[in-house]
Amino acid sequence: MRIKITKPKSVENGVRLYATVQRNPHVAPHQVVYLRTANKKRWTCDCPDFTFRENGKGRHCDHIKQVRAKIERQKEATRLCWTVE
Ligand SMILES: [Zn+2]
Repeated sequence: MRIKITKPKSVENGVRLYATVQRNPHVAPHQVVYLRTANKKRWTCDCPDFTFRENGKGRHCDHIKQVRAKIERQKEATRLCWTVE
């Protein structure tokens, strides 16, 4: 699984983060976006699973979960570096 996370330099339309999640190198990656505006926070993905879950129970698809897990791991790594110093 390849996960690429990009933070936009300027916040446009509330977009805080772009990510691509690619399971199979022969298939186009899915696009995950994190939006945050004054009154709402929202994760979106362009996969059919997300659309289905969103309409059903408002749950996140696996791509969003993977991106969030990667961010958490990065945060954890940063904390560990600080502890060492
Ligand atoms: Zn998805």
